[in-house]
Amino acid sequence: SRKWTRSVSILKEFGEKCETPIGKLRQLADAMDVEMHAGLASEGGSKLSMLISYVDNLPTGDEEGLYYALDLGGTNFRVLRVHLGGKEKGVISQEFDEVSIPPQLMTGSSEGLFDFIAAALAKFVESEPEGFHPPPGRQRELGFTFSFPVKQTSIASGTLIKWTKGFSIDDTVGEDVVGELTKSLEKIGLDMRVAALVNDTIGTLAGGRFYNQDVIAAVILGTGTNAAYVEHAHAIPKWHGLMPKSGDMVINMEWGNFRSSHLPLTEYDQDLDAESLNPGEQIFEKLLSGMYLGEIVRRALLKMAEEAEFFGDTVPPKLKIPFILRTPDMSSMHHDTTPDLKEVGSKLRDILEISNTSLKMRKIVVELCDIVASRGARLAAAGILGILKKLGRDTVKGGEKQKSVIALDGGLFEHYTKFRVCLEDTLKELLGDEAAETVVVEHANDGSGIGAALLAASHSQYL
Ligand code: ADP
Ligand code: MG
Repeated sequence: SRKWTRSVSILKEFGEKCETPIGKLRQLADAMDVEMHAGLASEGGSKLSMLISYVDNLPTGDEEGLYYALDLGGTNFRVLRVHLGGKEKGVISQEFDEVSIPPQLMTGSSEGLFDFIAAALAKFVESEPEGFHPPPGRQRELGFTFSFPVKQTSIASGTLIKWTKGFSIDDTVGEDVVGELTKSLEKIGLDMRVAALVNDTIGTLAGGRFYNQDVIAAVILGTGTNAAYVEHAHAIPKWHGLMPKSGDMVINMEWGNFRSSHLPLTEYDQDLDAESLNPGEQIFEKLLSGMYLGEIVRRALLKMAEEAEFFGDTVPPKLKIPFILRTPDMSSMHHDTTPDLKEVGSKLRDILEISNTSLKMRKIVVELCDIVASRGARLAAAGILGILKKLGRDTVKGGEKQKSVIALDGGLFEHYTKFRVCLEDTLKELLGDEAAETVVVEHANDGSGIGAALLAASHSQYL
């Protein structure tokens, strides 16, 4: 019928607009490399803020002793204790506790929130095994993973730029979050020092490096997306501090904010951005992270329903609700292997209240998921190639096979298999056979918690 033909042509047109041929991905990787240079040259020099983390010492694997970590980045926070045994023994043991933050504390006072966190930490410290208590005069040390925008002022201090993710506590903004935590710790007499303040990408990089010294970058693909990597300190013109002994400095790219005229933006992406909480910002993130992939699929389906009566002569009302189709649901439709696409049928029915879909229609839905996921995964691969280029690790020089490992973490990478496989295949294709042999993408499971503890160890005051 005419309507069917129209639906297919909307799909086809969308597919073409989303195309990411290898040539375009190379242009994007080049653009990423250029923006990285610009962001390192001057503050505000690029859409990529290329934040200096003050982490100039990544774990070597020799770290020993008992360290704590605190991971605050959403509605839950975690406290961890890690017993490190050096090269021979690695991580001897680790314990953690997860605590959910009472909603009223997320919008209350700074003191209220940090007092709560300090109390939870103190309770956790009580379970420290006998024989592991620090000798008199020695402080316990903590790595603090704080995944909100922070202007770092040293390895263990930084002022909060703004809250996100449902937090809104005015009197913390502009304050040093380590100072806030320390005040609360002192109030209850818990003698603990924050040795490192980091975000989740840097935690993941540190966690990856502990196990594998070839780890040079970390990428988070979860609700949002970001990357961090190890830069040569002399390649950071905007750094006016002392040259670190290691010669290295970890950079938090904030790559979710990357944008380029080469990005394959469609009308759906433009509308999604315009109607978002942060229009014009985080354009790269909006093309490839878990918060948005399902929403892009919903928008394309809505267009087919409105303009081609894809689901019959009325537009299913649920399809008009923003963010109703979540990325995990998109993923389970995309991975449906039943001959009649039963999973697709039940997702459409349960989430969008669309029943009686034909196999032909379900196939189109799967096709749509594939277009959106592949575009996102291929763009992520281009981003990684950009980092490798910046470091001169995208080619094999003089037959020297220097290994480069990228630590990846986040729910999207972990659970969306087709996304992950597409990312890995695309990166191989971009690198070519010879260079691909030297680059490894490694899943760093929950590197960020343990990574913070490791950074506390490598930035210990007792070294
Ligand atoms: P965060 O990024 O908030 O720290 P995670 O790393 O756990 O948290 O990632 C959560 C995100 O991962 C979710 O927002 C979702 O988009 C994505 N995700 C989780 N499970 C799946 C799944 N089964 N398939 C696809 N994406 C998933
Ligand atoms: Mg996370």
